[in-house]
Parts: sequence; C-alpha cells; structure tokens
Amino acid sequence: MADKTIFTRIIDGEIPGNFVYQDEHCIAIRDIHPAAPVHVLVIPRKPIPSIAHLTTEDHAIAGHLLMVVKKVAEQEGVAESGYRVVINVGDEGGQTVPHLHIHVMGGRQLHGHGTA
Ligand code: AMP
Repeated sequence: MADKTIFTRIIDGEIPGNFVYQDEHCIAIRDIHPAAPVHVLVIPRKPIPSIAHLTTEDHAIAGHLLMVVKKVAEQEGVAESGYRVVINVGDEGGQTVPHLHIHVMGGRQLHGHGTA
C-alpha cells in the first residue's frame, strides 16, 4: 500500500530494520542516521501518526512504550549512565515520519534539549 509509513513497512517485513526488541505491541530498531552511539526508535505496531493523534483507546500502548524505552535503555547499557528520550510532534516539532516513535539516545554526554 502506498500510504504505509516507512516504519509500517519495516514492521511488515517489506524493508529491513535493525531490530533490538519487539513484542506484540511495538518494535525497537536502530536509527538509520544515529545522533549518538545508542540511538534506538521505539515504535508502536499500530500506525498512530503522532502524540497529537492519541485517543483514549491508546492509553495502554502509550504507557507500554515508556516501559519498552526503559527496557531498551537497560539492554543497550545506558540505563546507569543516562540517556535522552525525544518524541517529535508535527512539522515544527521536526517530525519527519508520520508514525509515532520515541527516540532513545545515549552512549555519550548529551547537551541542551535537542536530538544531538
Ligand atoms: P523524526 O524526525 O522524529 O520523525 O525521526 C525519524 C527518524 O527515523 C530519523 O531519526 C531517521 O534517521 C529515522 N529513520 C528514517 N528511516 C529509517 C529507517 N529505514 N530505519 C531506521 N531509522 C530510520
């Protein structure tokens, strides 16, 4: 389908992704253009476009995604040293893929509030 996001295409196995975790609700893949030594994207299987599109029926998945962020950080070895969690929303938020995803970045000292 032409309107699938790149992340749905990875979820559906149509294009490769570098998976670090997956379960029935979400996947976690390495970002193809990492901004830090650890840069993983946690992505719901459901193609929710952004935080702005969450509904009350997404309550459980929204919470689950944060729990997976924690799990991925532990798995990637940055839970102790610290890491950054970013969700871009919409054009001015810098969102380029319209499928909700959480950036998990770490492995070096991060500064400021941006993705770098
Ligand atoms: P955002 O700007 O918040 O929408 O982030 C989208 C992220 O997806 C960027 O950091 C891209 O590098 C990343 N990205 C785009 N295509 C892929 C892909 N095929 N595999 C992994 N990460 C990707």
